[in-house]
Amino acid sequence: MPLERFPDDWSRALCIVAHPDDLEYGAAGAIARWTAAGKEVAYLLVTRGEAGIDGMKPDEAGPRREAEERASAAVVGVDAVQFLDGHADGVVEYGLPLRRDLAAAIRGYRPDLVVSMNHRETWGGLSFNMADHRHVGLAALDASRDAGNRWIFRAQVESGGLEPWGGVRAVWAFGSPGAAHGVDTTDTVKKAESSSSGRATTRIVLADDQNVVREAIKCLLEVEADFEVVGETADGLAVVSLVDRLKPEVLIVDVAMPGLYGLEITRQVRERSPKTRVVVCEPDNSQTYASEVRMPWPDDGVPKQSHPRFRPHPVQGWAPDFVPKLAEDAREWVHEIVAIGGAEAQIRVLDDVLRLVGRAQHAVGEAEQPGAVGLELVGDRAAHGHHPARAPRPGS
Ligand SMILES: [Zn+2]
Repeated sequence: MPLERFPDDWSRALCIVAHPDDLEYGAAGAIARWTAAGKEVAYLLVTRGEAGIDGMKPDEAGPRREAEERASAAVVGVDAVQFLDGHADGVVEYGLPLRRDLAAAIRGYRPDLVVSMNHRETWGGLSFNMADHRHVGLAALDASRDAGNRWIFRAQVESGGLEPWGGVRAVWAFGSPGAAHGVDTTDTVKKAESSSSGRATTRIVLADDQNVVREAIKCLLEVEADFEVVGETADGLAVVSLVDRLKPEVLIVDVAMPGLYGLEITRQVRERSPKTRVVVCEPDNSQTYASEVRMPWPDDGVPKQSHPRFRPHPVQGWAPDFVPKLAEDAREWVHEIVAIGGAEAQIRVLDDVLRLVGRAQHAVGEAEQPGAVGLELVGDRAAHGHHPARAPRPGS
């Protein structure tokens, strides 16, 4: 269904999201167009995303992600970036404290539009939306109404120096499965021609029990216009049926998943969905496993030495199971082994993600990213007219 054109009759928008990166992955293309057209846009982030990096403590990750977000905003022409305090990444609660903070920001900035993100349970497919996004999206909708009522959060009005602001005409959500309007982010015909339109999309299923790893890999993949993550799961037992149903071109699977061991998954997937390419991520043994050098397994099944590339531990000596027998046997089922090694690798994955984000942001700033950003109208003041006539009154 073609998207309707996003309205142009406004001058100020406040974007309210839970985390750094939320806007970059959902709306930055549209925001770049708006600021280029002379509209004023400000960001309000409820958290600094401080719990978003598994290998980095929040007090280190928070400032780092805040700085990255300010830099990303600047690329798309946004200088006003505010971060709230008192709401913790990953455990943002829907409630009056959040609505109060958002209402204060809306009263302070006095926007025509509030742009938030999908507050639904899913992104439209199988992947769960996270609680922070749901809570912030819903609170942004409610606070847009609260802001106009002087009797709600009245301390802000009576002693906080803020006036009520009933000027939010509409609340829009990006990343929503119900998006019916689009902001064209294609700048020239030539650029559109080089878009993914003529290319087949590579459909990918991700299976990893660590959400952070899954998110990181997903971010990494979705920067590519023709890659689409169509399903994901943290449950080993769910992978085979998911792949059976979705028949993706690629499955990326972690070796060690609860429920069913990754390589057993791989074996079953190979049987039932032979066209699906399987990429295995193995966090610990992968350096040696990916070396293409085989672990010697004698006929009696009892290993007598460690993997040739494994340096025996000075105290513990050699490890017979450094590359498990099952992993060795699975070589014939596995298309590609991606070597990812522990904490060091997580930082590397993160750096890769940041590098890719930087590149994507650059492209957005230069309006080189073709396509459209879709938004759903989740609240419309004009639509009040569709209800039976009733004088608006405080608390209604
Ligand atoms: Zn987020």
